[in-house]
Amino acid sequence: MAERKPVLIVGAGPVGMVAAAALSRRGVPVTVLEAGAELSGEMRGSTFHAPTLDMLDDLGAAQAMIAQGIVAPRLQYRSRDQGIVGDFDFGVLADVTRHPYRLQCEQFKLTRILYDLLRDKPGVSIRFNARVAGCTDHGDGVEAVLEDGTRIEGSYILGADGARSPIRKASNIEFEGFTWPERFLVLSTPFDFAEHIPDLADVSYYADPEEWFFLLRVPGLWRAMFPVAAEVPDEETLTEAFGRIRFGRIGAQFADVPVRHRTLYRVHQRVAKTFRLGRVLLAGDAAHINNPLGGMGLNGGVHDAVNLAERLAPVWHGEAASELLDQYDRQRRGVTVEHVQRQTIANKQNLEAKDPEAQRAFRERMAATSADPARAHEFLLGVSMISSLRRAAEIA
Ligand SMILES: Cc1cc2nc3c(=O)[nH]c(=O)nc-3n(C[C@H](O)[C@H](O)[C@H](O)COP(=O)(O)OP(=O)(O)OC[C@H]3O[C@@H](n4cnc5c(N)ncnc54)[C@H](O)[C@@H]3O)c2cc1C
Repeated sequence: MAERKPVLIVGAGPVGMVAAAALSRRGVPVTVLEAGAELSGEMRGSTFHAPTLDMLDDLGAAQAMIAQGIVAPRLQYRSRDQGIVGDFDFGVLADVTRHPYRLQCEQFKLTRILYDLLRDKPGVSIRFNARVAGCTDHGDGVEAVLEDGTRIEGSYILGADGARSPIRKASNIEFEGFTWPERFLVLSTPFDFAEHIPDLADVSYYADPEEWFFLLRVPGLWRAMFPVAAEVPDEETLTEAFGRIRFGRIGAQFADVPVRHRTLYRVHQRVAKTFRLGRVLLAGDAAHINNPLGGMGLNGGVHDAVNLAERLAPVWHGEAASELLDQYDRQRRGVTVEHVQRQTIANKQNLEAKDPEAQRAFRERMAATSADPARAHEFLLGVSMISSLRRAAEIA
């Protein structure tokens, strides 16, 4: 009987590993198929919002994350010429979350923590060097084919295989949206900006009509992100001179800070046409990608994985009809379009606004919101994605 076969999870990134943990906790066997020889160690997402930490806590992973990360209680909006325009304290969310802050912790730490929790669990198999080349939905089960020809049967298959998702492509699911013309450059430095910029919060967004940027602290490093115009060749952006100019614009005294990592990447706003097609499911970057302003992509992926596990587990156990999986699509795709895509696009537009009237309106809105406790609470519910989860729960 197909339902007794494991759920195949393609990709041992943060979303695949959270899905594995959440399904395993509900008694569903999983086989994780990861193309790489080991878990990725790439410097990528590093922001975990309050409700995501609540979910990770339920999976037994939050304490280790907190121990390896930085608790960032404040969020700041600044403008290059006018300094702080809004200063927010996540502590006001203590009435709705067990973790009223942002945790700054590299995503590769999460996958390792989950791997350690799962590796010896009965019913969990995590296979490396297992690149999935294709998959077939047989109606009563699925089959994944690895690059080396090995065939693996499962009850359902979850594509948690990143933005280029071979599972999404094999299922002919459109990835609708657009790509921004500029790329984003992330430069990491051990230089401590907090010692030199008065009252700097661990997460600070700077609006500027010429070149917005943000500063974000992770353990031992500050990460600075800048937009790079389309016409600048990739190679040039990765030179020391290019980094010096970017840091020098934050302040002339910062031009020579040492750079530890440089990452240039293309930024998209895309959502898969559906998150469920028969026995094929999508989550995380395979299902949606957005710009990183607000740290919503990775968090949204974790929310997908937890939502899906809550529905797939009763279906797998034969306690609910498979139509319950359509609710996963309606809820998670619904809020991805309504909330995450809209919010991340607005975040970018607020920081880069060239029209003086729009800049002034943004500054005034931030100042008024941070000065009013009720508005600040409402605003932080949105920033930390609690509102998007509440909205998802309202969708039938
Ligand atoms: C360069 C870069 C920088 C980023 N920086 C930020 C940031 O600063 N802030 C932020 O919020 N987000 C950032 N992101 C986005 C964030 O990293 C993603 O949202 C997050 O990794 C999504 O997790 P995921 O598990 O869905 O996918 P991924 O992390 O991409 O994991 C997918 C996994 O699937 C595996 N895989 C792929 N194909 C196959 C296959 N055929 N068979 C088996 N396995 C396969 C991959 O090896 C990988 O392990 C960044 C992304 C990139 C690319």
